[in-house]
Amino acid sequence: MKKIKEILIGTNNQGKFKEICALLPKKIKKYSLKEFNISSPKETGKSFRKNSLIKASYFSKKTNLICLSDDSGLEIKYLQGKPGIFSSRWGGKKNNFNLAIKKVYSKMNKIKKEWDKKNFAKFVCCLTIYWPNKKYVSRVGIIKGKISKYKKGKKGFGYDPIFIPDGYSKTFGEMKPSHKMSIDHRFKAYIKIKKFFN
Ligand code: IMP
Repeated sequence: MKKIKEILIGTNNQGKFKEICALLPKKIKKYSLKEFNISSPKETGKSFRKNSLIKASYFSKKTNLICLSDDSGLEIKYLQGKPGIFSSRWGGKKNNFNLAIKKVYSKMNKIKKEWDKKNFAKFVCCLTIYWPNKKYVSRVGIIKGKISKYKKGKKGFGYDPIFIPDGYSKTFGEMKPSHKMSIDHRFKAYIKIKKFFN
């Protein structure tokens, strides 16, 4: 297997971009979408896998580079798996995460039951590597946890301030970024595709 030496990071989300660059070996040359001025395609798929593939193939075809893309989101049991693949869209056109988090709380607070008992949530990430010869590999990583009663912590991005991973009492937003990055859904998906880079 030919190891990857350079790659396009197929995301316009700064939080994800930073995490993915930190996961990849230092010696790999990383390109960002900014360098090519490409906006993201419509995510028309119904799963993380499909949307991850849509992005990776689109960006790879535009640039003729190998592309690594990520589709991820938060699934909340009380909300029947929402926001799920709509995680980014809940933040509106401007990707406003205060808005997305307010939406989560307002929907959860409508649930009359005591929300401690079945307060299950998980972050899911599908990473796809797409080669210009149309070959691709997709792998999923999951981290389970629960929704914090309060928004806590200013580190991280997106829904980090409201997610507490199992086995911890802090939200992702309160954890050191290097710690979060070493246990999260993206890391777990990355482990499964790591062999293409080392
Ligand atoms: P998309 O994959 O670009 O459609 O967007 C995924 C959305 O899920 C992001 O915009 C974030 O809001 C959320 N998300 C995915 N991974 C994380 C994470 O590690 N922390 C916080 N939010 C995340």
